[in-house]
Amino acid sequence: MNACRGPRTPCRLRSVMPGWGYARGVEGPLTDAFGRVHRALRVSVTDRCNLRCRYCMPAEGMAWLPGDRVLRDAEVVRLVGLLARMGVREVRVTGGEPLLRPGIAPLVGRMAALPGVREVSMTSNGVLLDRHVDDLVAAGLARVNVSVDSLDPERFAAITRRRDLDRVLAGLRACERHPSLRPVKVNAVCLRGLSEPDVLPLAALARERPYVVRFVEVMPLDAPREWTRDLVLGGEEVRAIVAARWPLLPLPADRPSATATRWAFADGAGELEFVSSVTEPFCAACDRLRLTADGQLRTCLFADQEADLRGALRRGEPLEPVVRQAVWGKPAGHAIGVAADPAPMRPMSRIGG
Ligand code: SAM
Ligand code: SF4
Repeated sequence: MNACRGPRTPCRLRSVMPGWGYARGVEGPLTDAFGRVHRALRVSVTDRCNLRCRYCMPAEGMAWLPGDRVLRDAEVVRLVGLLARMGVREVRVTGGEPLLRPGIAPLVGRMAALPGVREVSMTSNGVLLDRHVDDLVAAGLARVNVSVDSLDPERFAAITRRRDLDRVLAGLRACERHPSLRPVKVNAVCLRGLSEPDVLPLAALARERPYVVRFVEVMPLDAPREWTRDLVLGGEEVRAIVAARWPLLPLPADRPSATATRWAFADGAGELEFVSSVTEPFCAACDRLRLTADGQLRTCLFADQEADLRGALRRGEPLEPVVRQAVWGKPAGHAIGVAADPAPMRPMSRIGG
């Protein structure tokens, strides 16, 4: 059984008990009905992308959001500021490809300067990173994850439908100029039948460069809705491929809400991580919220309920009750492995991964 059952101790009952206003989510930290406190926010700054990864976007014909629906810089800053006042501490900027948004470095700077925000990080496909990384770090970017599924130019092109591996590797090298970004994390989505030959070269990258390579299970978040369970190359299998060549030792999680398990090469040469959302769901400790490029608050990648913060903001309505109600209603966990069709209506590029 792979479905995530979510937290073990639902506390919906607290809402009818005196003295539990805090737990109902009307004040204090951003708590859901299962007692999970929300500290992490992913902000999608655009739904557009310069790659077309097959597990995310169709080859052609992706309909982009009309410009007037995309949050303006001031609106992004206002909403992130609101969420920071409500307890969000870590902000990850994502997309689509975040580096396609004009003025991204100053926007990162404005988010990093907000009271309460401790860290602003970014997930990027790396294609434009060598051009932007200096400005981003100067603006306050603290961490970066770069998505690289293959170090083989042909397989990279087969997955992303673009021939940009050299630019991505140049972006990674550019990150090495900034010790404050270390370790750079490299996200590699694994696809059964395609990615197996990439496992050892990617693991070797974590031994040779100041990177932590993270092997990510593919989830049903592709726009064409072609995901099947057969496509999932599980984290345990990938770990076995690596361990047969370089023995691995488990490391403790760096925080309770971590999405990844951490492993060190037994010879001390580096670290790997495994994000096994399908085979080992981690919903029970989820502390993440997502703000889409068009200003919708999502509490779970896989739930289609969204709170329309853009609408409320533009109409001048109070925002805090909308946020609290959305967080209180966050589902226990996803239904991959249980529901016949667990995919949400929005693909990953439209939510913000
Ligand atoms: N364009 C940027 C990038 O690729 O890094 C940021 C946005 S992308 C949606 C964020 C992360 O989600 C990437 O690491 C990507 O590999 C991952 N991702 C996209 N679709 C996925 C899927 N169906 N299953 C698992 N991870 C996925
Ligand atoms: Fe673009 Fe990132 Fe989706 Fe690939 S995973 S198509 S780089 S948004």
